[in-house]
Amino acid sequence: MRVTFWGVRGTFPATGADFARYGGDTMCIEVECAGERLILDAGSGLRALGAKLNAQKADLEAHLILSHLHLDHIMGLPHFAPFWRSDTRMLIHAAEESVGHDDGEALFSVLRPPLFPMDRGALPASIAVRRYQAGARFAPAAGVRVSTAALSHNGACAAIIVEAGGRKLCYATDHEHGDAEADSRLAAAADGADLLIYDSTFTDGEWPAYRGWGHSTWEEGLRLKRRSGAKLLALVHHDPDRTDNALDALGEAAAKRCDNAFFARQGLTLEV
Ligand SMILES: [Zn+2]
Ligand SMILES: [Zn+2]
Repeated sequence: MRVTFWGVRGTFPATGADFARYGGDTMCIEVECAGERLILDAGSGLRALGAKLNAQKADLEAHLILSHLHLDHIMGLPHFAPFWRSDTRMLIHAAEESVGHDDGEALFSVLRPPLFPMDRGALPASIAVRRYQAGARFAPAAGVRVSTAALSHNGACAAIIVEAGGRKLCYATDHEHGDAEADSRLAAAADGADLLIYDSTFTDGEWPAYRGWGHSTWEEGLRLKRRSGAKLLALVHHDPDRTDNALDALGEAAAKRCDNAFFARQGLTLEV
């Protein structure tokens, strides 16, 4: 399982020299496994992934699995270059709780006027939406199993768990810890994961002032890693004001408490 972080920022893209090393694009993770390509979330990081895929590959077939529809997780959709090719086939998996019962109209609001100059019907690519219910399992392709778990967030949001070739990845952002039932559900979903990717918008020190904002802390990520037995923890959804130097300092603090936890940087590829 090969995992590439195309965007690790939360809430809104960050730009400028202070954000160059960890990157400013919002959440987008590419997972290559069992000969398939999965994309987790379509934040602004999706744009650079699309440019790479467009340059490399004709007949792109990919599964985009969305945790939820907050703008920082779908803002890359209109700028995914493979959508402008007729040989692209994209299946978008979105939670029924967030996309509703229609054909993904809420999702495609960013792909039609007035938010975008043209309607998605004008795109040459074949794009279909498949709805899942948070908690559901599905097999997007042979050899790949996906399960989901409802998270605690402002609005519906789901953790996405990918299993293939004996490897397991758990992607859990955006989540506010503190609800015992939701935390237990997430720990069970992450059980024994080879890689846990977790919402570290805040620190434990900052968090009391932001209760109810729907996010978690890197320290809670460490606690979840221990509780779930996950082997490696990648901390993501960095606050857009968190500079590279600040993330370095948090990374050092995390390394003192855990050998296998790090703050993820845009552009990183891991062989899981
Ligand atoms: Zn977010
Ligand atoms: Zn969100």
